[in-house]
Parts: sequence; C-alpha cells; structure tokens
Amino acid sequence: MMLASIVLAASQNMIAQNDMKLSNKQQALVAIAANEARGDIDGLKVALNEGMNHGLTISEAKEALSQLYAYTGFPRSLNALGALQQVIQERQSAGLITEAGRDADPLPDDYDALKQGTQVQTKLTGKPFDYQFAPQTDYYLKAHLFGDIFARNNLSFAEREIVTVSAISALEGCEPQLVAHVSGARNMGVTDEQLHEIPTVLRQRVGEAEANRCAQAVACVFAEPAHDAIQTVDFSVWPKGEPNTAYAKYFIGNSYLAPLDAEHGGPVNVTFEPGCRNNWHIHHKQVQVLICVAGRGWYQEWGKPAIELVPGTVVAIPAEAKHWHGAARDSWMQHLTFHTHIEDGASNEWLEPVTDDIYNKLK
Ligand code: MN
Repeated sequence: MMLASIVLAASQNMIAQNDMKLSNKQQALVAIAANEARGDIDGLKVALNEGMNHGLTISEAKEALSQLYAYTGFPRSLNALGALQQVIQERQSAGLITEAGRDADPLPDDYDALKQGTQVQTKLTGKPFDYQFAPQTDYYLKAHLFGDIFARNNLSFAEREIVTVSAISALEGCEPQLVAHVSGARNMGVTDEQLHEIPTVLRQRVGEAEANRCAQAVACVFAEPAHDAIQTVDFSVWPKGEPNTAYAKYFIGNSYLAPLDAEHGGPVNVTFEPGCRNNWHIHHKQVQVLICVAGRGWYQEWGKPAIELVPGTVVAIPAEAKHWHGAARDSWMQHLTFHTHIEDGASNEWLEPVTDDIYNKLK
C-alpha cells in the first residue's frame, strides 16, 4: 500500500515537468534503446558513450537494457549488457569518468508484485486491462514487467517509457504496441513535446525506418496528419557536395554535385532531393552512365516506361536518347555519373521540364 503511493507519487513528479524537452541523457536513452532493439552493437556503444558523457549512470544504463529484455528478448538484452560492460572498461582505460549511480531501493518485505503491477499497468493504459485470452501472459505483464521491473526506482516511469517507445520503434511489425506505448508514455509523464522529439532523435542517431515508425505512431496518438515518410541517404557514405547552381535552371528542385577524385577523371556523385529531377535532355555523341548508390529515383527514356533507380542500378544512356533522371517524390537519391564513348563535338542539349503529369504518375 505504502509502496504503491510512493511509486505513483514519483510518477506524478514527472507530470509536473510538462513543458520539458528531452535532456541529453534522455536523448541518449532513445538511441541506446533503439540500437539495442536493432542489435546494432557499434551504434549502441556510441550511444552509451554519449549518454555517459552527459551523466547517464551505469545503474541507469544497466536498468534500461535489463528492462528491454521484456520487449526485445534476452538475446538482444544480454548482447547489449555485454556491450555496456565493454564500454565501461574502455572508458576506464581511457580515463573517462563514468558515474556508477545509485541502485534501486530494496522493496518492502510485504511487497505484492501483482497488486502493484496491476496498479502501474492501469495507470499506463489509462484503464484496467485484463488479457483474458492468455491469463499467464496477463500475469507476466502485471506481476513481472509492471510489478517487479517497474518497481525498481533507478529509472522513472517516464524514462522507462522513453526507452520502450524507442525500442519498439526499431521493431518492424510491432506498430500496434508502439502506438499503445506512445499513448501510455503520456500517462507516465513523458511530455507531448518530448514524444514529438523522439522521432527526430531516432532520425539523427539511429535510422530513417525507426524514425518513420515512431513519427507515424506519434501522429496516430495525437490525431495529427501523418507525414509521408521521406527516405534519406547517408551523406557520410556518398558526399552531398555543393549545390548544383550551374545547371539549376535545367532542374526542378535542388540537386548537388560532388566530383570524386576529379583530378584523375573520377565520376561525379549527383544528389537529388525528394521530387527533384532534371529536364528532358540529350547527350550528343557520348554515352552517359548512371550508377545509383543511395535512395530511390527514376530514369526515363522518351517513349519508354520509367526505370526505378535503387542502389546498384546501372544505366548506360545511349548517345542521342532523349531522357531525364531524378529522385522519387518520397526519397533522396544519389547516382554516380560519367561519360564514355565520347566523340569529337560531344555536347548536352537541354529540353523541356518533366511535367507533374508524367512525374506524379510514378510510384
Ligand atoms: Mn542525362
């Protein structure tokens, strides 16, 4: 009884911080949880180090990764705890300070996990929840997950939900649970502002798919229009280069040019923002080669169906063929390009723009 009121009081404190943004430590928890769920140990180590540089304690990190076994399974959780051990050792060797933090307070002798867990679960879901179809699972959820695990007070309820939402965002096909936890996170004291920040942190630190999944769940819970998920590309792999100002008048949308080893005649990497395409044009007396390296886009020759460009697609555009190339509406796209079979008097002829009528039919 007493513990119940203590636990609930702790969560009430969180609600008082209603206009708060995610702290650096909480942002690190987002990246830690999503990388744990993805099984990305390298990404996890980066996220753990960032968190510890911002005051995340060993106790808190351990708690988050332990809790996640209930959501991602022991294999992921144990791998992640192993990575945490390595990070702690590496930081020690490097002379970096890592705070041990405080362990969870011991539970009273008469602690009733089922009773307490039922109360916590009711708070999370906003109403009593009984999973009658599988009573044993109902017991595990209440007594173990929301009873044993959530009773440990070295992470707040709000932090636990930030961890859970971030991890489920990295699990393909678990969208109903993700929506339920975004909703539950609000009940556990995660602010609306913080919830809207989680997809941004996932996009910056984890990946596009994880960010899009979370953004859609947040939009669903807040009854906001869902944004079309934009597929981005990783500019640390193929450089974005500089704005393509010289040819901008022959493009719809923004494109960027990055000459690669230009000194020795290397190819140029062209980056197209979503929706960007060049006008119909002809390369006279030369063959243009396109090698798509990132994102998704289109190549179309006059009078023929468009060909989808995805990483690995190679197109050798015949000399004198009228054509265009560009990104898909919902994705950035990068292709390498160079010219071959170049004859004397080779040139480019720029023609009319690719109309929305043609472009918008492409999926
Ligand atoms: Mn071309």
